[in-house]
Amino acid sequence: MNISFTPEELLFRDQVRDFLNKRAPAAVKHKQTAGLRLDKHDMVAWQQSLFEEGWAGINWPVEHGGSGWNATQKYIFFDEASKANMPRIVPFGLNMVAPVIYKFGNEEQQKRFLPDILSSKVWWCQGYSEPNAGSDLASLSTKAELQGDHYFVNGTKTWTTLAQYADWIFCLVRTDNSGRKQQGISFLLINMNSPGISLQPIITIDGQHEVNEVHFDNVQVPANNLIGEEGKGWTYAKVLLTHERTGIARVAESKQRFCLLQARIKELQDTPDQPHVNSVFMARVMAVEIDLVSLEYTELRVLSSIATGNAPGPESSILKILGTELQQAIDELFLDLSGLHALPFVPDQYSLGYAGDNLEPHYAANTAPHYYNNRKVSIYGGSNEIQKNIIAKQILGF
Ligand SMILES: Cc1cc2nc3c(=O)[nH]c(=O)nc-3n(C[C@H](O)[C@H](O)[C@H](O)COP(=O)(O)OP(=O)(O)OC[C@H]3O[C@@H](n4cnc5c(N)ncnc54)[C@H](O)[C@@H]3O)c2cc1C
Repeated sequence: MNISFTPEELLFRDQVRDFLNKRAPAAVKHKQTAGLRLDKHDMVAWQQSLFEEGWAGINWPVEHGGSGWNATQKYIFFDEASKANMPRIVPFGLNMVAPVIYKFGNEEQQKRFLPDILSSKVWWCQGYSEPNAGSDLASLSTKAELQGDHYFVNGTKTWTTLAQYADWIFCLVRTDNSGRKQQGISFLLINMNSPGISLQPIITIDGQHEVNEVHFDNVQVPANNLIGEEGKGWTYAKVLLTHERTGIARVAESKQRFCLLQARIKELQDTPDQPHVNSVFMARVMAVEIDLVSLEYTELRVLSSIATGNAPGPESSILKILGTELQQAIDELFLDLSGLHALPFVPDQYSLGYAGDNLEPHYAANTAPHYYNNRKVSIYGGSNEIQKNIIAKQILGF
């Protein structure tokens, strides 16, 4: 594969750099660079700056307002955005529900939902997992019963990321119990302001409110919020999941964090009497670097496949496993590099306006929050063990 850039691609890279320098929100850049937490306003401001540039629908078809970028342009954009320390795009609207709506929704639904997703006016969350249906997602039991022209929804979704910000939730619901468990599942769009919806925060190990339980108590949903055909939700959900897994690999972000790690190592190497940077440690650093380069090539293969109109295939499972393992490996290198300095974990010091002592030396680079938060990456989007099952079935034929 030839990855040297053409003159046109270099011009595009300059355009991206210019945008990131001049028009990406400065407040978001500042928070990211200082290692502070972002809030809803920050994430929306970043995505709206992309929208204003015509760059919000990175993977969308042009007829629905997509950027029209080819695989290389997408690669360049994500690489440059990560280098400029900009945050990832919140995937639930732009990268998850939108492809389902533009592929399987009717024209009325496309007109109604897609513009507000593209402009990030409306925040979406994902209602797939349930207390008794995670890896075995098809066992889900949240029930939607059609009465007249409304569904009545009852049940509980869990681990729902950032549902506290959401205006809408896309849900897998059970509309039939009679056949195979995959057959009676439907894909329903539900307004989060509907009477009967309540949220319960789940506080994670890093002290954050990132996930929730969402309860549905006889929630009335117009029947025209059903995507596609009743009972075909499993097919639509699978398309969405492959897109989700590709995004979770976060190769560009890992490259950026790896560069930071190298810079910190260099600083410590120049410091007398530091115990951490030895040949065993450096061998681990090199192994991670090699894996990172291989992963980047796999991501390029998947991006080219998407660019030619294909949905990402089982390669997305490879990307998910390796991408998340690498994120965690880099966290662990930071942890070892920081030694005792990684221990004092005071979540407040990562909030804007924190007035206490800064307990973490700068070279620790948010070790504790990254380490704790990234425990999730090998679990969500379908755990890594489940991805190995998918690879065994689809690639090896077991
Ligand atoms: C931080 C976070 C955010 C999330 N956000 C969302 C969200 O926004 N929306 C949403 O719908 N879901 C979300 N999830 C849920 C996520 O997709 C599930 O946690 C995941 O699918 C695993 O399901 P589970 O937690 O029920 O674990 P289980 O399915 O109970 O699995 C427990 C363990 O058993 C292993 N296991 C299970 N079955 C097999 C098998 N057949 N073969 C081998 N090993 C197996 C798993 O790998 C895992 O290690 C999120 C999860 C986390 C942690």
